[in-house]
Amino acid sequence: MAEVIYTKSKTGRRGVKFPASGVAEKDLSKFIAENLLNKAKIKLPELTELDVMRYFTNLSQKNFSIDNVFYPLGSCTMKYNPKINEYTAGLDGFTNIHPEQNEEFAQGALELMYNLQEQLKEITGMNAISLQPAAGAHGEFAGMLIVKKYFEKIGEKRTKVIIPDSAHGTNPATAKMCGFDTVEIKSNSDGLVDVEELKRVLDNETAAIMMTNPNTLGLFEENILEISKLVHEAGALLYYDGANLNAIMGITKPRIMGFDIVHLNLHKTFSTPHGGGGPGAGPIGVTENLANFLPVPVVCFNGEKYFLNYDLKDTIGKVKAYYGNFGILVRAYTYILMMGGKGLRQVSEDAVLNANYLKEKLKNTYKLPYDKICMHEFVLSGDLQKEKGVNTMGIAKRLMDSNIHPPTVYFPLIVHEAMMIEPTETESKETLDNFIEVMKEINREIDEDPELVLERPVKTPVSRVDETLAARQPNLRFCE
Ligand SMILES: *Cc1c(COP(=O)(O)O)cnc(C)c1O
Repeated sequence: MAEVIYTKSKTGRRGVKFPASGVAEKDLSKFIAENLLNKAKIKLPELTELDVMRYFTNLSQKNFSIDNVFYPLGSCTMKYNPKINEYTAGLDGFTNIHPEQNEEFAQGALELMYNLQEQLKEITGMNAISLQPAAGAHGEFAGMLIVKKYFEKIGEKRTKVIIPDSAHGTNPATAKMCGFDTVEIKSNSDGLVDVEELKRVLDNETAAIMMTNPNTLGLFEENILEISKLVHEAGALLYYDGANLNAIMGITKPRIMGFDIVHLNLHKTFSTPHGGGGPGAGPIGVTENLANFLPVPVVCFNGEKYFLNYDLKDTIGKVKAYYGNFGILVRAYTYILMMGGKGLRQVSEDAVLNANYLKEKLKNTYKLPYDKICMHEFVLSGDLQKEKGVNTMGIAKRLMDSNIHPPTVYFPLIVHEAMMIEPTETESKETLDNFIEVMKEINREIDEDPELVLERPVKTPVSRVDETLAARQPNLRFCE
């Protein structure tokens, strides 16, 4: 049985002993509705403070995290999150502020948000920013609501959203949630949007195309200027999924490529801790003519003071309580200031260099379906290893025994047995070389004894589980 904290309980153990209270006990049960009163005896574990400390410290180390292992999870940009971000986000003035605080007494927080908006404008080239959305997918949702409202306003009925087959699943899901029909277009043999295919489906019912650039294969969409010209000529808008911004900061901007609406994942590119569902922040940026559609409030400055502006005439309304995930905004702001403009460009250059280094060193051992210069990530196929008896899932599980978090697997969908590898700029050459060695070693093990590889991992707290059962019927209860 797993070591849940209950197994360590010993009757009578205590962490803290309180002195006897000088106030007489009072029965409060008459203030609570009868049906809400708990009649059963509550069973709680009884432990000393030291027991609790060791239990949770050990538990925290059973997991993989960016602070303890290499974490090349493609598309997720698991870069190191500098601890100074945590320091600034924890400052009293930020943690003890209330969202209902009068603007006059929250000038510092508003200034921070305003400055962050300005920085993101500079980085993306967009004209206006809203910090409200709480994640990338949430930013997509806000962005596509803007597309919808824009065409309603100009009186055009457009029902279609075009999405490349390499897109992240949130793109089609978002378009559908906003009431659009999605049209998938196939990538060409170079792994890029097929311009002829695009021309075939583009018409006056097309509201938008949703693109990621570099795309999820880690390849730069070289025809982006032609694509944006075609899309705009058809009267449609270009939506930019900014999850891969880590590859292009300071080098190019979505606006230069012709995009009208952009979301960013602050938790990826701008180094705020994420994983396991959040927290995140997915600000959106738009062109001048869409600025009035942004969710409210946006933070403005009148030359004297900062204020929250609710007065946007075509606004899609609110998409989140208050003003966004403020703590994440503080972290991203800290990171941007710390790096500076040149530093951010260096981030992208190093991220691209690291990915190409791994790609070149591994392409003779694993199949590389698109053999060209990549951006910040690349996709290998485990086809050759599968033929020898171990599929990509087997390789991913084996990696954990070498203390490496597996890459993203089985995505993008257009590569068989996909392994999507994103080293990020924060890793040293030694770490990259170790990863290369381990990947080669796994291939040798597969040649020697595939059955043995399939028994891995053996060093993790849990070895192989029935994946379907673990996802559908997780047993999270403690049992005797
Ligand atoms: C991560 C990601 C998203 C979704 O972002 P969340 O912040 O997880 O909601 C969308 N598109 C791509 C390409 C991504 O990598």
